[in-house]
Formats: sequence, structure tokens, C-alpha cells
Amino acid sequence: MSSDLLIRGGIVHDGSRRKPQTGFVLIKDGIIASVGSSPLGNGFSADRVIEADGAVVAPGFIDTHTHSDALPFLLGDHDDLRLGSVRQGVTTEIAGNCGFSLYPVTTGGEAVGTDIATLFGPDTTVYPDLLSYADAATKGGMAANLATLVGHGTVRATVVGFDDRPTEANELDQMASLVDVALSQGALGFSTGLIYAPGCYAPTDEIVALASVSADHGKPYVSHIRNEMRGVFDALDEALDIGQRSGAAVHVSHLKAGGPPDLGGGPALVDKLKRARRQGLDVTSDSYPYTKGSTVLRALLPPTASIGGIEAMLSRLSTPEGRASVRAGLQESDWQNFLEDRTWSEVTIAYAPATPEIEGKTVDQIARERSVDPVDAACDALIANQGAVVVVIDLTREEDVVACLCWEGAMVGSDGIPIPGKPHPRWAGSFSRVLGDLVRDRGVLSLNESIHRMTAAAAARFGLSNRGRIAEGAAADIVIFDPETVSDRATYAEPLAEPVGVNHVIVNGVPVINDGVDTGRRPGHFLRKESTTTARPGRTLT
Ligand SMILES: [Zn+2]
Repeated sequence: MSSDLLIRGGIVHDGSRRKPQTGFVLIKDGIIASVGSSPLGNGFSADRVIEADGAVVAPGFIDTHTHSDALPFLLGDHDDLRLGSVRQGVTTEIAGNCGFSLYPVTTGGEAVGTDIATLFGPDTTVYPDLLSYADAATKGGMAANLATLVGHGTVRATVVGFDDRPTEANELDQMASLVDVALSQGALGFSTGLIYAPGCYAPTDEIVALASVSADHGKPYVSHIRNEMRGVFDALDEALDIGQRSGAAVHVSHLKAGGPPDLGGGPALVDKLKRARRQGLDVTSDSYPYTKGSTVLRALLPPTASIGGIEAMLSRLSTPEGRASVRAGLQESDWQNFLEDRTWSEVTIAYAPATPEIEGKTVDQIARERSVDPVDAACDALIANQGAVVVVIDLTREEDVVACLCWEGAMVGSDGIPIPGKPHPRWAGSFSRVLGDLVRDRGVLSLNESIHRMTAAAAARFGLSNRGRIAEGAAADIVIFDPETVSDRATYAEPLAEPVGVNHVIVNGVPVINDGVDTGRRPGHFLRKESTTTARPGRTLT
């Protein structure tokens, strides 16, 4: 058989947990044409041969949690950003997380766009439906494959706006229908971000109603839960309850115990998930291997600050009364109040496009340099940047990271936000860090098991049936790395530094990274998932 590419002599981990074996992989027309145990693949010819002697040949990694929604639209001078994740071997990124997706925006487009731009950067475009978004992304060109969830925050913003109130019945019907259309068009599931406006204004029953639509499509409910600090256990209970009541499988985003009172709580969170599994709930999670997190600065302000949308927030923050109300809210506990147990010295500016001079500094440091109060420094930064400020924050402890990443339902999700400035290194470092630090150096997971979670397990959770496996007929997404040297090098100072030891990354049969070098090819596809069951027509929401 003649083919495009023959990879031979490598140790093939097929993603399934089966014992790895030395062999060959033959690729033709973007598909794995043959896999075998003879090291040389004798009898086959190929236009190109990769000698993988002693290296691991694995399915390309699936990053289950990213904010790469706008990555295809980055302008040409950001090739470092376009490749940050794929250099580790990530061949599929799942976007639309934490309630933020660039669609479906049918009304109020300008306000929704302004809101979304606080995470994805200025000039972010929003789309009326998944198909138009997928079309634009495909034209933009992608190194890796991209797939998306449909975000509750975006759906609520376009139907209800940014008011802090429950939905009217007709609004909930409209939201359900937008979620239904998105899932019919190939969204992988329904996501929430219940610390972010406007998602945080939604009562549990609203989420149950919408997660039921996802259940009807045989797709999961994916949640950034309502609280990861004090209140993380109650918030996890809410997510599991939503799964029970809606019938949707539950995938908990960036599982962690984040607040000082609950540091060391990782194993107890995992126990809760295991108990839910024993009771029959289909539950999984993702985590990234870092103790710091990253989010938008505005999420550290009380939810009342964001009522009415970004413009309303900015005008509120420019008045002494507005700032007094922020200070009062920061004394309260009925929301995820990061600063209740932490200080502004644990909040570092990662991205502030209009004031890049504050990137890399803590809010406390900026306040001292300017002789102002940290709340004023934070509000000033938000105003100067139209609300678009991303921060890195201290969150959890190493033993909690290990507990959350090592339970049997865990996957690796970077939660990466590919923006300029000094973003969290997790987007460009999570996978190589797990393989180097956690698997090889600390031995907390086996290599074969970690590959399974990064590939076949993630594909199964999100219904990517033709990905995450090295098997005949599967899409030819492949990474070749050296298990002895693979390591992350991305740091807070240099967030996009390339990993060590990842030699080849192949997407849909096309080499994107060849011997560590960018080939300039952008073969990524936009992946859409068929629903496994048809939505019940005319279903009524209660
Ligand atoms: Zn999140």
C-alpha cells in the first residue's frame, strides 16, 4: 500500500489503555490507514517516513477546556499564540467553556460583544449561530482542530441581557430553543460559568431546564461551578443536582479547592464525585496542573458591579458611590468573594491591552506605585481597558492539584486563554507539564493512563468518536514525543515558551510541527458532533 506518511519504530500508545507496543502507523488522506506491530512497517511505502525510534507515538491530545474561541481570528503577527498549545501535541481544543461562546447572539449584539471582549480581547466578533461561527473560524485557518460548547452566559445575555433577575417563561423558552439549535448544529455540550455575569444571575432551576436540552441531545452539562472558594462543596452539590434533575452527564470544569478555608479539600471534592458515580451519575472533570488560576478582573468584583453589562459597570466604577458599593460587596460572603480570604497582592495583571505597563504587576503593587487604594487601582485598570483585564490569581495547593488530576474521572483541561500580554502559562504548558512533572518525575500517574485521559477518555466524554485513538480508520491526529525529556517551559514570565521533547505533531494527517519546527501548515478542522438522540419536538419546560 502506498501512503502519505509512515511513522515507524516508535512505542505506540493507542489511547485505549492497552499495553503499548513498538510498531508502525501508516497515514493516508488524513486517516490512519494501518497500524501494526512490525517496527519497520515492512511492505508499505510512503512519500515520507518519520523514524520514531524509542519515542512515544500517541493520539494527539484533546484539551477539554480552553478559551481558544477567537484563536482563528488572531492576526498574522501572532503565530507564537496560534501555536502555543499545538506545540505540546494538542490537536483538538474544546472552546465555548465557562458559559462564554461567540454564538448564538441573535439580539443585543453590541452589548454581548462588549461583554465577551473582556475575555477574548477587543475586536471580538459574535455570531448568530454555530454554523456561521464555524465557517468564519475555518476561513481564519487553524493549526489544531477546534470544537465548541454552547455557553449559557452568551445565551442569557442575548435573550435577557445583563439584568440580575430570573427569566420570564417566554425568555426561558427562547434560551432553550437557542441551546437546542446550537446542539443540533454540532455543539459538544452546554456550558455554564456561574461566577460570571450574566450567568451568575441564573437560579438553579433555569440551568436544570437548559441542561435538560443537552440531555435530550445526549450531550453533557459542563460547568464552571458557582463557587470554587468558600462554598465550593455546595457549588459542587448544585452541579451534581443539575445532572440528576436534568438527566445530563456532568463535566466539572477546572475542579479545584480554591479558598484558604478549603485548601487541602481536593480529596474531599473527589470523594463527592466518586459517590455521585456510585449513585449512577455520569460525572467527569478536568483540571490544569498549576496552583494559580486566571480569570477576568471583573469577576473579582461583586456581581452587583456587573448588572446592566460592561458599559453600565464602567460608568458605575467611575463614581465614588459605585466604588463604595464595590468595597461593601467585598465584605460579603454570599458570592465567590476571592478577596475574602486573599489579598490584592495575590492578583497579577496578565493582560491589559490599553495599559500594557501594568502587565506582570500585582494590583497591590500598582496601587502602591500610584499611592491609591487597591480597589481604586483595579477600577481604574478596568475603566482604562473597557473592562478587558485578565488576571492571574493564587488559588490552590499542589496536593489538591494532584488529587483533582488523578481520580479516575479526571482529564486535562488547560483553561488556557490565548491572549497577548502575560497570560497564564497553562495554555502552552499543561500537557507537557503533566507528562514531565507529574508522570515522569513524580510518578503520580502512569504514562499510559495519562495518555488515555488526554485522548480517548476526552474524546468519549465529548463524543468525538473518530478522535483520540490510534486505530485504523481514525482521524490521523498524532503526537510523537520523548518520554525521557518531555517537559514544559512556559512560565508566568514567558507564557508561550515551547515545551521540550515534543518532536512531531500531526493534525488530520498533516505535519504542523516537524522535528520541533513549525511547518506553516494549518490543517485544523472545525469539529461538530451529531446529537445521539433527537430533541423532543414541542417539549415544554417546567
Ligand atoms: Zn472557568
